Amino acid sequence: MNKSTLRPRETIVAIRAIPYAIPYGKPLRFASGSISVADNVLIQIETDNGIIGWAEAPPRPYTYGETQESIIAVVEKVFAPQIIGRSIFDREGIRSLMNRTIGNPTAKSGIDMALWDVIGKRLDISVHQLLGGYTDSLKVSHMLGFDDPQRVGDEAVELRETYGINSFKIKVGRHPIDDDVAVCRAVREALGEDAELYLDGNRGWNAVESAAALRKLADVGLSRVEELNPADEITSRKWLVERSPFLFVADESAPTQATVTREILSGAANALSIKTARSGFTDSVRLIGLAEGLGIETFLGNQIDAHLGTVCSLVLGAAFDATSRHPAELSNWLDLEDSLLTEDLVIRNGEMKVPTGPGLGVDIDLDKLQHYRVDNQMSPLALLT
Ligand SMILES: [Mg+2]
Repeated sequence: MNKSTLRPRETIVAIRAIPYAIPYGKPLRFASGSISVADNVLIQIETDNGIIGWAEAPPRPYTYGETQESIIAVVEKVFAPQIIGRSIFDREGIRSLMNRTIGNPTAKSGIDMALWDVIGKRLDISVHQLLGGYTDSLKVSHMLGFDDPQRVGDEAVELRETYGINSFKIKVGRHPIDDDVAVCRAVREALGEDAELYLDGNRGWNAVESAAALRKLADVGLSRVEELNPADEITSRKWLVERSPFLFVADESAPTQATVTREILSGAANALSIKTARSGFTDSVRLIGLAEGLGIETFLGNQIDAHLGTVCSLVLGAAFDATSRHPAELSNWLDLEDSLLTEDLVIRNGEMKVPTGPGLGVDIDLDKLQHYRVDNQMSPLALLT
């Protein structure tokens, strides 16, 4: 039997990587880096029938080694030539092709999620429903970056009063550790007992410093901690996790099925953060299943996503029981000065509702994209020639 007759066709004719830059009104600082501009890459997939799918890839050189320039290069020079001409329904084939190239997780994920957007639009169904459609909203958790205790406490209170958010990740990992201990105490005092607080060290401390901080914070009431020290400190990381009174979440140490299995089975963590920015939809689904099989909790993390990236997290997280149990990190777009989406994102009563339209359920404002894209501006060097 002719294989092509079994396979619905809608052929990919173009994959584009469009860099843009939107400033943050308030930069986010953390142990492994800082962000003052969303210098992301929009991924656009076009089909022969004119369907356009979108997603975005955030460069995080301190975590994945990718830059805005490297994402554009690998999408346009390596992935697009292999994928153009294939059916949009050849999702696993496209995944296999991309996995012949190592690394580049956000570039691969951007292509994967733009492809899901295309498939949803082609079938006139939301990606949220295609993935699992478990619930229609998620509770929101907000990430608080480095600052002095009073300001971080005030920021948390303002976010709760304005948006109803009552779950906060506090970035830690500074020296001396007492700077961060003071911030955690200030946030707890500002919010009272009913707020959820948890920590993310982004590998800023070693195991001994982490253990000392946890002792000092024993009465602050934390729900979990994440990547306090580097997972590569293999023996001392295991020592720390064994002594941690809180769930210890693997984030950047466990972005793939193999690394999740290795980190969890070796005792280097006992819970998992999933981020669509680095595992797309296709591999995030695999990670959710793996975590269920390992019997660990999953939390929906934030790659400091802009608006479109946040929608992707929301769509994935609300599609599954396991990823909708805990507040999801969905709110750091609040600090961006503008959005590329035609519709506003809304946080009300501490929750975000999943868009219901076909595909991802949101559209790109092409005028704004024209304004913020950085690939059509004349280089300052060009003025000299
Ligand atoms: Mg993290």
